[in-house]
Amino acid sequence: MKIIYSKKFEERYHTNPVENPDRAIWPAQELAGREFVEPLPASLEDVSRVHSPEHIDMVRRKGMLQPALLAAGGASLAAELALAGEPAFGLIRPPGHHASSTHAWGMCYFNNMAVAIKKIEDLIEGKIEGRTGKVLIIDIDLHFGDGTVSIFRWDEKVKIVNIGAIDVGFDYLKLDRSGYLEQVERALAIHDFDLVAVSAGFDTYIEDWGGLLTLEDYHEIGQIVKEEAENKCSGRRFAILEGGYHDELRLCVKSFVEGFE
Ligand SMILES: [Zn+2]
Repeated sequence: MKIIYSKKFEERYHTNPVENPDRAIWPAQELAGREFVEPLPASLEDVSRVHSPEHIDMVRRKGMLQPALLAAGGASLAAELALAGEPAFGLIRPPGHHASSTHAWGMCYFNNMAVAIKKIEDLIEGKIEGRTGKVLIIDIDLHFGDGTVSIFRWDEKVKIVNIGAIDVGFDYLKLDRSGYLEQVERALAIHDFDLVAVSAGFDTYIEDWGGLLTLEDYHEIGQIVKEEAENKCSGRRFAILEGGYHDELRLCVKSFVEGFE
């Protein structure tokens, strides 16, 4: 399995201090020994398939254009590898699932997942014989991926399942651990797809804000997605980092990847 990574993800930029370079540096060390691939920044054309010119200008004015383009490029590379039959994990930052076409919040700028899916959307249909190009996005971040849902709301080929996500506000998770894993299994069982993508936020971790999932759970989630991808779509799968702010994010990423690869 390939790990998408760049030293540029270790840059410190002006954002909420919890979204800091350690979120890339430490997980990268934990994943050492695997094959790392350096992404190119997404092009403005790629990003324009998802975001309005005004939104792109806003990201530029905040001085975040280059980091945000690189994260979107990292997600796109992960998607392209997955489509070619090579599972991938994008260890990227800044995160993206709170970015809609015209707005972004929650430390997000461009919607990395959406840029990646739009980039390969036409290819899936052409490349996989007899298939219609359906994508399933499973968002395991603590927070509801409102940006991604908004972008794909009219796209019948892209289904998004937010597992146990809290909405804006502080209505804490109502699921227990086994209920959470059941939701992951159910999402994969009831949908038909030609590629599965995971918005992998780890802030539901027992030591993080969500206070629920253990390292074993992240391993199991990775494994469930892998097995169902192998059953249903020749293993075509990728995941990208979203949230996750505890020091042990590195262990969460490692556990997930070990199950997913
Ligand atoms: Zn989150």
